Amino acid sequence: MKTSSVESTVLREACGIVGIAHSSDDVALPLYYALYALQHRGQESAGIAVSRGMSTDEDPDNRGAPVKEIRSERGMGLVAEVFSPQHLAALQGSMGIGHVRYPTTGAPLLENAEPLVVKYQNGEFALAHNGNLVNTRELRAELEREGRIFHSETDTEVIAQLLARELVEHDPIAALKEVMRRVVGSYSLAILMDSMLLAVRDPFGIKPLCIGALTDECRGVNVGYVIASESPAIDTLGGTLIRDVNPGEVLVIRASHTAGSRNPAGHRDLKLVRHQLHPGVPSAHCVFEYIYFARPDSVIDGKLVYNVRMKIGERLAIEHPVSADIVSPVPDSGITCAIGYAKRAGIEYLEGLIKNRYVGRTFIMPEQKTRDMSVHSKFNIIRANVTGKRVVLVDDSIVRGTTMRKLVRYLKAAGAKEVHLRIGSPPIIAPCYLGIDTPTRDELIAVTRTIEAIRDYLAADSLGYLSLNGLIAAVGIAPKSLCLGCLTEHYPVRIPGERCSTLQATLS
Ligand code: AMP
Repeated sequence: MKTSSVESTVLREACGIVGIAHSSDDVALPLYYALYALQHRGQESAGIAVSRGMSTDEDPDNRGAPVKEIRSERGMGLVAEVFSPQHLAALQGSMGIGHVRYPTTGAPLLENAEPLVVKYQNGEFALAHNGNLVNTRELRAELEREGRIFHSETDTEVIAQLLARELVEHDPIAALKEVMRRVVGSYSLAILMDSMLLAVRDPFGIKPLCIGALTDECRGVNVGYVIASESPAIDTLGGTLIRDVNPGEVLVIRASHTAGSRNPAGHRDLKLVRHQLHPGVPSAHCVFEYIYFARPDSVIDGKLVYNVRMKIGERLAIEHPVSADIVSPVPDSGITCAIGYAKRAGIEYLEGLIKNRYVGRTFIMPEQKTRDMSVHSKFNIIRANVTGKRVVLVDDSIVRGTTMRKLVRYLKAAGAKEVHLRIGSPPIIAPCYLGIDTPTRDELIAVTRTIEAIRDYLAADSLGYLSLNGLIAAVGIAPKSLCLGCLTEHYPVRIPGERCSTLQATLS
C-alpha cells in the first residue's frame, strides 16, 4: 500500500500478505508463523484478522454467537513484538488474513497498519494489500465527492472503499471485477469476507501471490489452503505450493455450503473456485523481487529466486571478469550472487564482511547522517580475510551508493589491495511507483552519474553492473512479461509524468 501522491517520499512501501482457510478453528497461530516467514517484506507493523469463516446458518456448532464477526489485532513493530499468546488465543477462527508492512521514511502510524476491517451496508470484510496504486488520488476524490470518509492516507483504503461501494449492489465477484477495472497499479490482495477467503492478483501480476495446500498427513486429506506473497510462508506451515495466482485472477476459498459437511478426517470441507476476471494484458512481474526483495528460497512465477540469483552472479562473472584473490558478498543481499560469480570465475568465495543481523535496514533511515552511522554498526570486517587481497565485492544493487561507498572505504582501511565492485542488476535509474521502496530520482546515484563517475565516487578499483539482457536471461522470463520500470524508465501502466511504453516488447 502507498499514500495517495504518486511521487510522495513520505510513505513508500512494499508489504507481505497471507491468508489461511482451515477446516479447524485455529487459524491464528499458522497466520502468525506465515507472517514470520514474510517478515523481510515489512517490519513496521503487523496485523491479523480472522473470522469463523461460516455464516450463522451454515455453522452446525453455532450457539447464537455472531460468527460472521471479524476480529483483528494490529500493532507497530515486528510480528513477534505485535502478537502475544493472549492475542492469538483471542483470534479464534477458521479463516484469516495477515499483513506485514515495510518501514517508511515518514511517521509510522497505526492507522496505516493492515488488515483494514471495513463495515459496509451489508456486512464487513477485512483486506490486506501488497502493491501501490497510481490512480489513488482521482479515485479518492471521486469517493469523497460521494460523501465517503477516509481514515488513512493509503491506497489500500481506496480499494476497500471502492469494494464496499460495489458490494452494495453486486455479489463479491462482480464487485471485485468492477474494482479491478477501476484501480490502476499493482495489487495482490487477501480478503476475508463472510464465509470466504479471496486471493486477488492485479491483471499484470506485478507483485507476487501464490497458493498452497495444507494436508492432514496421517489421513492424506486436504485440510486447508494458504495464500501468500511468497512460497516460504506455505513451506513454514508444512504445506505444498500449488501454483501462483494468475494475473487478473481471483481465487475464492469457502467452507462447503452443506451444513455440517465434513471430509473423511472429520474436518469441514473447503472449496476452491477460480475466476479469471481480467485476462488479456501481458503480465509485468516485478524484476526487483528477483534481484533483491524476495527471499532466495521463494518460488515466484515458477522461478526459484535462489537459482535466478546464482545465474545473475554467473553472468556477472562472464560480463565483468577480473583478476582477483577472493569473491566476497555484501551480506545478505549479495550472497547468492557472489556464490554464482565465484563459481563461474573460479575464484575463492570468502566472506570479508559480517553483518550484525539485529540492526535494522540502513536503507530506511530518513537522515543521511543516521544512514552513514548505521552502515558502520551494521557491518564488520574480517581483516584476516581481506588484508593484502584483491577483493571482488558483490551486491545485488546500488541505490544511493551510501552503503557501497562506506564498505569500499572499510575494506581499503582493513588492507584490501584492490576492491572490484560487481552489481547484480543494471543501474537503477528511475523510481518505483508499483511497490518497491526506491527513492526519488535525485537520490538515485545512477541518475546523474556515468558508471565511471559512480566508480570514482565509490572509490572502487573497478565497477561492473549486470546488463539488462544478462538480467533478463538470468530471470528466465520474457522481458515483455516483466516490469523493468526502475531500470528502463518504461512502466507497464500509465503513470503521470512517466513513459508507458512497450520497451519490454521490443526486447523480447
Ligand atoms: P544504498 O546504500 O542506498 O545504495 O542501498 C543499497 C543497498 O540497499 C544494497 O545493499 C541493496 O541490497 C539494498 N536495497 C536495494 N533496494 C532496496 C529497497 N527497496 N529496500 C531496502 N534495501 C534495498
